[in-house]
Amino acid sequence: MTKGAAIGLDIGGGSTKVGLISHDGQLLASHRVVLAEGAEFPAILADYRAAIAALRAEGLPVGIAYPGHIDRARGLGLNSNVPALDGHPLAAALAGVSGPAAILNDADAAAVAEARHHPEGLEGRMLMVTLGTGVGVSMIVAGRPLETAGGTLGDSGHVNVDPSARYRCRQGCTGCLESVASAEALERDGTLMASIGESPALASEADAAGTVSASAVCRAALSGDPGAQRMIGQMADWLGMAVASWRASFHPDLIVFGGGLSVLGQPFIDQIRDRADARSLPFLSAHCRLTLARLGNDAGMIGAGLAALTP
Ligand SMILES: [Zn+2]
Repeated sequence: MTKGAAIGLDIGGGSTKVGLISHDGQLLASHRVVLAEGAEFPAILADYRAAIAALRAEGLPVGIAYPGHIDRARGLGLNSNVPALDGHPLAAALAGVSGPAAILNDADAAAVAEARHHPEGLEGRMLMVTLGTGVGVSMIVAGRPLETAGGTLGDSGHVNVDPSARYRCRQGCTGCLESVASAEALERDGTLMASIGESPALASEADAAGTVSASAVCRAALSGDPGAQRMIGQMADWLGMAVASWRASFHPDLIVFGGGLSVLGQPFIDQIRDRADARSLPFLSAHCRLTLARLGNDAGMIGAGLAALTP
């Protein structure tokens, strides 16, 4: 057993990462638990216990990054993309084989880990935006997540930005940021762009694969394809509008962008900043920095472990 360490679980739709995290946020070892199709809570729990045993980490505090809302009083998660776990007393069950257990939203967990790499995250106010299939938004104030309801910063990825309200997001609202600026939106718009002949790169991608992925759109944009670059510019526009709203609501000192679409790099972040600055209160633009996340896919697991170590 490693002294002063904790276990961090990052639960995803298809698999869960289980890691041994040092007191200063280093990932020491990890296992991936693949969730079997149709697995129920007891079977998943047994797999988690086996992973903790394989890390020889029994008895350590455990932190759980959950992909949904959190009911902290009952130590469980709700409304996630892993319905077999929703409503089950996960924290208590894992505390049974391990030490004390903490549960928090997965975007918050990633932000807790990321905050340690920026002075504003530890001392000030850091907003983290995770751009993936959906849009996750977390706010860290002096190193801790700010929660409004459901153990999250509301559902801030669903701020309304598109007055035409032409698309509906996966959760059911129309005109929200997620409906127009997410991996899902890029796949939809990229497939259209390929079919109308405005992007040679995406047209050949659609021919080869039958569909256009968000990562293909990012690759095409980075290689100079004009159609894909227009799509990314439009996405920066939507994100700039959302950033202006989040700034007005939360006054962050720093906004960090992570998730799969952050592969677009600092030029994309600069586009977002320009769009946001044109719409924001000048004093908010002046003191708010926008940057890329420093941690990759392990951030949720690391943040969960750190949360378990924070009283
Ligand atoms: Zn929505």
